[in-house]
Amino acid sequence: MILLDGKKTSADLKVEIAESVKQIKAKGGKTPHLAAILVGTDGASMTYVNAKVKACELVGFNSTLVDLPEETSEETLLNEIKKLNNNEDIDGFIVQLPLPKHIDEQKVLMAVNPDKDVDGFHPTNVGRMALDLPSFLPATPYGILELLERYKVETSGKNVVVIGRSHIVGRPMSILMSQKRPAGDATVTVAHSRTKNLKELTLKADIIVAALGIPEFLTGDMVKEGVTIIDVGITRVNDTSKKRGYRLAGDVDFATVSPKSAFITPVPGGVGPMTIAMLMKNTLLACERKN
Ligand code: NAD
Repeated sequence: MILLDGKKTSADLKVEIAESVKQIKAKGGKTPHLAAILVGTDGASMTYVNAKVKACELVGFNSTLVDLPEETSEETLLNEIKKLNNNEDIDGFIVQLPLPKHIDEQKVLMAVNPDKDVDGFHPTNVGRMALDLPSFLPATPYGILELLERYKVETSGKNVVVIGRSHIVGRPMSILMSQKRPAGDATVTVAHSRTKNLKELTLKADIIVAALGIPEFLTGDMVKEGVTIIDVGITRVNDTSKKRGYRLAGDVDFATVSPKSAFITPVPGGVGPMTIAMLMKNTLLACERKN
C-alpha cells in the first residue's frame, strides 16, 4: 500500500509556486494577489480561510481577507464582490462556502468575474471545463488529478467510481477523469444517494473517489484488492479523547480498506492540503493570464 501523501505533495507544489513568484518579481512583474470573502463565524470555514491566507504568505502572494458578519445582506455581499471584480490589483478571489441561509449562493457565485474565479465555480468556468477549454479547475478535483499524476497512478481505461455528485467535487471529478487528459481517459460511474447497487459498483472499481461526507462509509468488504482510494470526506466527529473535542474523519474506513489498496489518501493529510495548493496554482495562473 502506498500512501498518496497530500501534505508532502502540496508542500512540493508550494515550493514550485514560490519559485515562479520569485521569477516573476525578479523580472519586475506583479505579485499575485488572492482575496477571500468570509461571511459569518463558522468554525470550519474560518479554519479553511486562515489556511488559505497562510498559504499565500508561504508562496509569496499578497492576500486580502474580507471578513463580514453573519447578518450581512445579500446586497452588501454582492457589492463587496463588485469591488473585488473592479480592483485591478486583485488577480483572483473566492467566496468561502457555505454562506448563511438568507443569501442565495448561486446568485453570489454568478457575480464573480469568471477571470478572477479561482475556485472555478462560475458557470463560465464549469462550462469551459466540460468542453475541454482552458478554465480554472475547481481546486479539490484539480488537486486529486495532480496527486494521481505525481504518483503515476494509471487511470487510462480504468473503472472509476465517484461517490457523490456535488458541484464542487463529485460532478467535476467525474467529468475530468473521463476526459482525454493526464489522470483522465477513465471509464467513470457517478454514484449518489439514489444509487441502488453501490457495493456491486465499488467492487468492480479500480479507483474510487469517495466524496459523500459520511464518516467511514466505504468499508473493506466494498472494495477489491489493488484498488486506488481517494478519500475526500472531512467530517468533524465528536471525540472526547482529543483536546479540541473532535477528530477529522474521512468517508473511508482506513483500517479495513487500506490493506486491500494499492494507493490510498489519508485523512487528514491527503486531499485537503492539495485543495489549498491548487487554489494557489489557480491564483498564479490568473495573475499570469492578466499580466
Ligand atoms: P455534498 O455534501 O454536497 O453532497 C454529498 C453527495 O453524496 C451528494 O451528491 C449525495 O447524493 C451523495 N450521497 C449521500 N449519501 C450517499 C450514499 N449513501 N451513497 C452514495 N452517495 C451518497 O458533497 P461535497 O460538498 O462534495 O462534500 C463531500 C465531503 O467532502 C464532505 O465531507 C466535505 O466536507 C468534503 N470536502 C472536502 C474537501 C477537501 O478539500 N478535502 C473539499 C470539499 C468537500
